Amino acid sequence: MGAHFSDKGDRKRVQSFVDKLTPDMWQFHDEGVTNGWIERDDDGEKKTRVYDGACIMLNRPGFEGGEGCSLHNLAADLGVSHVATKPDVCWQLPIRRSFEERDFGDGQEYTVVVIGEYDRRGWGPGGLDLNWYCSSNTEAHVAPDPVYVTEESTLRELMGSEGYEALVEHCVEFEAAKSVVPGGLPGLAIHPADPK
Ligand code: SF4
Repeated sequence: MGAHFSDKGDRKRVQSFVDKLTPDMWQFHDEGVTNGWIERDDDGEKKTRVYDGACIMLNRPGFEGGEGCSLHNLAADLGVSHVATKPDVCWQLPIRRSFEERDFGDGQEYTVVVIGEYDRRGWGPGGLDLNWYCSSNTEAHVAPDPVYVTEESTLRELMGSEGYEALVEHCVEFEAAKSVVPGGLPGLAIHPADPK
């Protein structure tokens, strides 16, 4: 499908990292440099170009320079977070930030920022049928650490460092409380697809 840019700043930031990719890091470097790595969708919105059936930034299986997203691989090579190198829509997955208007009955509306899972429903009609999206698949839930640890860089960017530190505090306290309450408390919420 290609990745849509959230705004001009997003596109320019990613461009600065695309400029650092070389042919041995990006399988379609020559094609991208010659004919472009950005295209417009039917509504005129800019996104990464689809080339040979997938995003042009995606190194296909067997590519010697490293399979997967060339921008993600670049982040690892540079020793920086993938949050810095990939389009917003790509690094945010599988976390979803939504802005919800709430009415508590006092005549005012409040915007509540919700951080949760970007599950298949987030893709809209047809999301349940996507064969490449895996956040709800059991095979994707094998990390030994909880999401607040493994997704630190994403969460810091989405909720701010102050918010993230508060989240960590709550999670650590909650986990510690589990062992001192007679009968125990359930641990941090386990994803329904978790095999444990
Ligand atoms: S993660 Fe990388 S390969 Fe996948 S859509 Fe985003 S830019 Fe393209």
